[in-house]
Amino acid sequence: MKPFSYVRPSDTRAAIAAAGAGGASFLAGGTTLIDLMRLEVMTPSAVVDLGRLPLAAIERSGDGLRIGALARNSDVATHPLVVERYPLLAQALLAGASQQVRNMATVGGNLLQRTRCPYFRDPAVACNKRAPGTGCAALDGYTRSHAILGTSASCIATHPSDMCVALAALDAVIHTRHTRRGDQVRAIPIAEFHTQPGEHPEIESALEHGELITHVELPASPFAAHARYVKVRDRAAFAFALAAAAVGLDVADGRIRAARVALGGVATVPWRSPEAEQALIGQPPNRASFERAAAAALVDPKPRRDNAFKVELARRTVVRALELAWGTP
Ligand SMILES: Cc1cc2nc3c(=O)[nH]c(=O)nc-3n(C[C@H](O)[C@H](O)[C@H](O)COP(=O)(O)OP(=O)(O)OC[C@H]3O[C@@H](n4cnc5c(N)ncnc54)[C@H](O)[C@@H]3O)c2cc1C
Ligand code: SF4
Repeated sequence: MKPFSYVRPSDTRAAIAAAGAGGASFLAGGTTLIDLMRLEVMTPSAVVDLGRLPLAAIERSGDGLRIGALARNSDVATHPLVVERYPLLAQALLAGASQQVRNMATVGGNLLQRTRCPYFRDPAVACNKRAPGTGCAALDGYTRSHAILGTSASCIATHPSDMCVALAALDAVIHTRHTRRGDQVRAIPIAEFHTQPGEHPEIESALEHGELITHVELPASPFAAHARYVKVRDRAAFAFALAAAAVGLDVADGRIRAARVALGGVATVPWRSPEAEQALIGQPPNRASFERAAAAALVDPKPRRDNAFKVELARRTVVRALELAWGTP
């Protein structure tokens, strides 16, 4: 591990100031950052530990919910308001990692977790995301875990988060604070938070350097009664998604009034599908409607040799999630 300085400020302003220096990284639960520092994939010159900041509350906010950036994944997953009003989020969190990791991992860190592309995690090989302009070893490599949606000629890495797929379906808004141009706050809709790789896979989010996530807000959701997160993976626990779907249905008088469909494990960012949602609206909640929506969700996929199976797997995952959300036996 490369040497680095370490500070543990006790207020938000001091934390942002400490991170202002180029090369500094915030530290939350450390389950991504410390891992990648050990591998020398991330090499911050300074680590700003957020552990003392009062940003872990989970509380009502009007009709919605406000979740502090330092709330632990396990605390969010079991919070009564989340379980009751946002079961999709609870299910997605509980599908991720292990209890031990969830006890450390935070909401802010989960939003910014890095890809599990094995070439990204190996400093000996080319990777445009880790070292811009060096190439992409995955393009001629083994691509079973890689993305089929949102890819570019520079990077085909999958976004690994389960939580973010649920947040995409729930229209989460990410709130941040920075101090470069005075004390400023921003509210970033989740759809604008993660960025597709394009020619710059090293840029993964809308955040500027030193910008701190303070909390996430969820608007009121009409989907609590009919929502489901389905994750397909190689093992029943402690494995990242090969395909995942977060769905919600709002049904009245036998017709779907509103729908949410987001995909994980198959795209370079948490992948909301307006096409699938549109295909569901006005339809009866049945297998035929769900299959049409699933087909619409996979618009112009770009499979490679080893991950072509993901096209059909993702379709079936969406159908299964919709069936379970609706309560089809
Ligand atoms: C063995 C293992 C298995 C896993 N399996 C899964 C899985 O199945 N599904 C899944 O979704 N995830 C999985 N994960 C990933 C895990 O969810 C993330 O590592 C975790 O959510 C990151 O949160 P953290 O608080 O530990 O972040 P950290 O490691 O502390 O930080 C991660 C990044 O976020 C930045 N950051 C953190 N907080 C803030 C903030 N408030 N503002 C601005 N920047 C911030 C840091 O600077 C860093 O760049 C797994 C991890 C491990 C180690
Ligand atoms: S897919 Fe992306 S993360 Fe993986 S090696 Fe290529 S550039 Fe790097």
